[in-house]
Amino acid sequence: MVSPYPILLSELDLGFTKLRNRIIMGSMHTGLEDRAKYFPRMATYFGERAKGMAGLIVTGGIAPNRAGWVAPFSGKLSHKKEVRRHRLVTAAVHNYDGKICMQILHSGRYGYHPLIVAPSPGKSPISPFKPKPLTSRGIEKQIASFVNCAVLSREAGYDGVEIMGSEGYLINEFLSRRTNHREDEWGGTFENRVRFALEILSRTRSAVGDDFIIIFRLSACDLVQEGNTLQESLQLAKMIEEAGATLINVGIGWHEARIPTIATSVPRGAFTWVARHVKETVNIPVITSNRINTPETAEEVLVREDADLISMARPFLADPYLVQKAMDSRSHEINTCIGCNQACLDHAFAGKKVSCLVNPQACHEEQFIMAPATTPKRIAIVGAGPAGLAAAVTAGQKGHQVDLFEANSKIGGQFRIAMNVPGKEEFKETIRYYGAQLMKHKVELHLNTKVSAGTLIANGYDEIIIASGVKPRPLDLPGADHPKVIQYDELLLEKKELGSRVAIIGAGGIGFDVALYLSHPSDYDPDNIDEFLSNWGIDKSLQARGALIKPTISPIDRKIFLLQRKPERLGKSLGKTTGWIHRLTLKKKKVEMIGGVTYQRIDDQGLHIKVKDEDRVLDVDHVVVCAGQISNDSLLGPLESANCSIHVIGGAKLATEVDAKRAIHEGTTIASKL
Ligand code: FAD
Ligand code: NAP
Ligand code: SF4
Repeated sequence: MVSPYPILLSELDLGFTKLRNRIIMGSMHTGLEDRAKYFPRMATYFGERAKGMAGLIVTGGIAPNRAGWVAPFSGKLSHKKEVRRHRLVTAAVHNYDGKICMQILHSGRYGYHPLIVAPSPGKSPISPFKPKPLTSRGIEKQIASFVNCAVLSREAGYDGVEIMGSEGYLINEFLSRRTNHREDEWGGTFENRVRFALEILSRTRSAVGDDFIIIFRLSACDLVQEGNTLQESLQLAKMIEEAGATLINVGIGWHEARIPTIATSVPRGAFTWVARHVKETVNIPVITSNRINTPETAEEVLVREDADLISMARPFLADPYLVQKAMDSRSHEINTCIGCNQACLDHAFAGKKVSCLVNPQACHEEQFIMAPATTPKRIAIVGAGPAGLAAAVTAGQKGHQVDLFEANSKIGGQFRIAMNVPGKEEFKETIRYYGAQLMKHKVELHLNTKVSAGTLIANGYDEIIIASGVKPRPLDLPGADHPKVIQYDELLLEKKELGSRVAIIGAGGIGFDVALYLSHPSDYDPDNIDEFLSNWGIDKSLQARGALIKPTISPIDRKIFLLQRKPERLGKSLGKTTGWIHRLTLKKKKVEMIGGVTYQRIDDQGLHIKVKDEDRVLDVDHVVVCAGQISNDSLLGPLESANCSIHVIGGAKLATEVDAKRAIHEGTTIASKL
């Protein structure tokens, strides 16, 4: 059979070793690196991805010394006694003929602890700690730590290392005028600023020998003021090649950059053109990344010759078998990463173990019992939203006989509404994935079937799972039934035309989404990379320092008010790593955000409110209600007389703060235990 991804799935010969395909599982901090007791779990996690045929795996960042910790007591490899635990991981990967590199990450001024160091004084905007500027002796010590760490990683059985030189960490801090204000041989001119990186690289190569992979992660587009120019990055790429790197992995943007680089709202493959510049400059293979989440996009990037290898990180959390599925022409079965960050990066930043919204088993592989059930049962599931779908697929996978009832004509529940929000188009992939899995696991799907308690009882099921979700909370306000008033689901599903002045009641996740929807033109194209770049002020010619230019803001001819009762900054409850993008986008679109509002009434004049004891009338054409939800649990009472176990999950269980992460987690957990 002809492979649908001939380049992506082809071998890459590195001379002393071969990679079995062009897909790299990129580095992600999962929290499992941080304690010796988690290493068996980490071994299972990586072993699973090697079994799924990843071409090369890169671990989460491991510090070369204590100063380089990301946070107190995070993963470090600086002593012989720390080697043994890593052998579990390398053995698990080699067991499936996989290859694994360990990322050496020195956090520099980004570290979240008091021991941090940097080339020059000055706090980063994302850590409260002040770094100690390094002396010349201190610099030599850091270089020696990198080399020692690489040597120990080889002893631990790794096939190579990735030296983290991008994203604004220590090496990158030396490379940039933004953070390197030294006047000695380690700062000032370009030749001096690159010295730290090149010394680490060349001394590491001498220490580990020629038959060990060294990936250098190079920031080719800093996206911060005073960042490097393209000319400087390309000059450095050449020097890195000469200093002995095997591969160059092109990094995009520092962590402190105020430009989205991996969120769902970034078009797929939006930054691979940056890697092409590097590929045209060096003779070693170049890796590209950022929002490449399907084998189709990956193959297109390679066909365009933007890079030689594709790094996908989060997609391997979402689906450990994505490469195997691509090899078997089963890409419709891939559980696609939707770029939400909710269970991966948001968890990492909150100091929690990383997982995945669409795959709660990620990094928790051992907690779910997916083995076939000894006694298959007859199970009814009510509702094909994220919770019900996760439960149905898990139960079907275990060999149970499942009837899934859905009142609507399509599966997806609230995700069908969400996928109409600009920047959430990827949510349709989750619905596609579940659709394919329902068929694969022979779940009997009953669409257009609002099932009653009577039918469920009469059918004599062994177990009933109620996943009937949520419905919008009705507005309790004089004028709530005025023709100006519309609920968020009507607006987003039926795509109703609204007037030029709109008020949104409620500024939770959905209120923000509705504001985004109303502030984007109807012909908005989520795949338009050039428009994304110009909206965020990214210089495609890469001539400007840090690749930053003035953003173009597409004007909107609509006045939008986003309102909440709480007297606090709007959007506080949004995700840590994505909330700022929503707030910034709405600010650019001049959406007026008002907190501390008391709603009074709605009439022909508009929405009457009180803010800080002052009465205001918002003269609007429409009022969109996004005032939270209530559980759709009317089946529970009548089912009390059923003679079987009843389980309630997702929004039907608790509407407050239900999100898809909780819904899918509960669906998977409950069904894995049946
Ligand atoms: P639902 O999705 O409500 O599904 C319940 C299903 O049950 C529905 O399909 C319904 O038709 C069916 N049903 C009800 N009664 C019956 C019956 N008697 N018989 C048969 N079928 C029945 N969450 C996130 O985590 N991240 C986001 O970025 C995000 N963005 C969102 C954006 C928008 C615009 C919206 C509306 C929601 C968003 N959510 C997001 C929330 C997320 O979609 C919900 O939390 C999630 O869908 C809840 O899942 P559920 O399965 O419990 O319920
Ligand atoms: P939500 O986040 O709980 O927000 C509800 C909003 O309605 C709040 O702003 C609340 O603010 C307001 N409100 C509550 N009761 C009200 C009432 N009686 N009258 C008027 N206003 C009222 O819920 P949601 O926006 O409906 O979102 C549902 C869930 O989906 C969320 O919990 C979230 O987890 C998930 N979601 C996530 C994202 C994401 O990007 N991660 C996006 C969308 C949805 P005041 O009480 O201050 O007025
Ligand atoms: Fe992707 Fe969201 Fe899963 Fe993170 S949590 S891996 S962004 S789907």
